[in-house]
Amino acid sequence: MDLHSTINENSSQISNNTLLTNISQTDQTEINDIKSEQKKLWRIEDSEKLYKILGWGHPYFSINSVGHVTVSPKGDLGGSLDLYELVESIKQRNIGLPLIIRFSDILEDRIERLNACFSKAIARYKYKNIYRGVFPVKCNQNSHLVEEVVKFGKPHKFGLEAGSKPELLIAIATLNTTDGLIICNGYKDREYIETAILAQRLGKIPIIVIEQVEEVQLVIEASRKLNIKPVVGIRVKLSTKGMGRWAGTTGDRAKFGLNIPEIIKVVNQLKSTGILDSLQLLHFHIGSQISSISVIKDAIREASQIYVELAQLGANMKYLDVGGGLAVDYDGSKSNFYASKNYDMQNYANDIVAEVKEACEEKNILPPILISESGRAVASHQSVLVFDVLGVSQIPKEEPPVIGKGEHLILQNLYETYQSINKDNYQEAYHDAIQFKEESISIFNFGYLSISERAKVEQLYWGCLRKIQEILKSSEYIPNDLEELEKVMASIYYINLSVFQSAPDSWAINQLFPIMPIHRLDEEPTERVILADLTCDSDGKIDRFIDLRDIKSLLELHPLQVSNKSSQYSPIQKLENSTTEIISVFEPYYLAMFLGGAYQEIMGNLHNLFGDVNVVHIKLNPSGYKIEHVVKGDTMTEVLNYVQYNSDDLVENIRCQTEQALQEEKITLKESRMLLQNYESSLSSYTYLSLSN
Ligand SMILES: *Cc1c(COP(=O)(O)O)cnc(C)c1O
Repeated sequence: MDLHSTINENSSQISNNTLLTNISQTDQTEINDIKSEQKKLWRIEDSEKLYKILGWGHPYFSINSVGHVTVSPKGDLGGSLDLYELVESIKQRNIGLPLIIRFSDILEDRIERLNACFSKAIARYKYKNIYRGVFPVKCNQNSHLVEEVVKFGKPHKFGLEAGSKPELLIAIATLNTTDGLIICNGYKDREYIETAILAQRLGKIPIIVIEQVEEVQLVIEASRKLNIKPVVGIRVKLSTKGMGRWAGTTGDRAKFGLNIPEIIKVVNQLKSTGILDSLQLLHFHIGSQISSISVIKDAIREASQIYVELAQLGANMKYLDVGGGLAVDYDGSKSNFYASKNYDMQNYANDIVAEVKEACEEKNILPPILISESGRAVASHQSVLVFDVLGVSQIPKEEPPVIGKGEHLILQNLYETYQSINKDNYQEAYHDAIQFKEESISIFNFGYLSISERAKVEQLYWGCLRKIQEILKSSEYIPNDLEELEKVMASIYYINLSVFQSAPDSWAINQLFPIMPIHRLDEEPTERVILADLTCDSDGKIDRFIDLRDIKSLLELHPLQVSNKSSQYSPIQKLENSTTEIISVFEPYYLAMFLGGAYQEIMGNLHNLFGDVNVVHIKLNPSGYKIEHVVKGDTMTEVLNYVQYNSDDLVENIRCQTEQALQEEKITLKESRMLLQNYESSLSSYTYLSLSN
């Protein structure tokens, strides 16, 4: 970009001659002209490329001509919404950020797609049985979502998978689909098994999957006691290992499942009690987010053989359940990097159908009903987490002070370094600047440098780094020792969010999610940024972002714009509808985290007592869209309740203390009233900050 270097030259020229405040009017207009020229040079396509939205977002998310993210909830079937406008209109309804927006149509589309892929594969390979998927409830247990999965899944007789007793309770109550399966996984006690078996009497098809040898005895006893024949499955520990993060889920030492000798034992046990015909399903799960298709193929091949063998041993085999693992392309790279996948849903279905068919045909066994427990692939896309930026901490951009002859030697040295930086010596200057800064701190510690001199040192130091950074921007090659510079110079954007609550996997297992602004995408994002959340925890940050190769540690974002209403800025919080609002000095800047609909919403924890965020469900209709449900996030009272504080007691406590202070004349009546008012209204408001401009 030629213009870029023009600006650089311009600004270094300026800094050489004069202070920023002395820039003549004409220079300033020239710079502004260049800047707006530059803005024009940034195209929507550049944003698409930068944030990889066409990779991970297809076919649901893209950018429109005004530079806003748009959502096409029905995928290729048409209809779209401007996400920025949508957020604005939700805010008008007094629902604040952070906010999860659920697109029911996306959920429907995912379920349709999954079933369509299997139908296509079944037709293509002339497979002589059907596909009957189940949704693993653990992926997202929220009732509205599970209910929608059941509703959208009905035409395909889509079922549910439970991995625990509470999930079983959800599944039995919610699944009302004729012929829909309820796969019962996880640790089981007598009550779990009896409840599952009894659900048959309600017309459901619960399949109890044996994951531990001891469970067989419980199943046998329960079926005798209730006089109901159960449908039983076995989870096998395959020797095929998953890859990446969840590799431990499989292999010989996996937590769940039976090894081959154990399976033989179970078969014999069922046979001797006369209920071997109850054994109808084989299940395996080699982990989630399997990024490589070859790993999936290996697993299917091994499982198909075991299935065939079980049938030959006399079990009444009917179902093969291939578990989860169908991956989501979080970085859009279509690779077998852990945040991606090197196959698509159709490849996945094709390989399963083809492998199973081949194994069964060879041994003349009827091919099974195929089940997958795809959670991530179904639930990830439907939810978008939108949050705002509260403020920024950055290395000041103003010109460093001019240092006169009489000033401290170290200041003069640093100033000289600053002035002399150019394309040829910047690497050396970088090390000089660091050295002078370190020296100055020692001198300061010995009492030979005043605090205002030290301030000048830091200003000069930042000035040097900025100048070097500008040079690096236009150079192709970044020397090794300067790689850290970008990180040092990065801005920190404070986001109105708790990573622990809303993106726990980003913190706990370094999972990557696409994050990007939802507006201003026709403008070049000139800042390099780390995101810091609201919690007082140094882990409460996001500094790993998707990139085409591997990951990047800084995200390109737009500079915050000072609000033109900022003259009204007042540090005093104002009370309005019992919501405490901070009057922001910045224009709203909205970011969104995508593909977080699986696992993230549910594993949140109350770090610093930031609770659940607001959720709205959006559905397209002919006249635009409709907000179907609003699930308000936690209030402070609710969050405090989780940790056993009673809000009435807290208020009473504060009231007593205020009364005491009044008696002792430490507080005025007006102040005490304000304190109590603030206290009480805080209790009933959202745990996140509410910004108004
Ligand atoms: C977690 C889990 C799933 C879901 O896996 P995804 O990769 O999200 O599809 C399916 N089955 C079992 C047994 C699981 O534990």
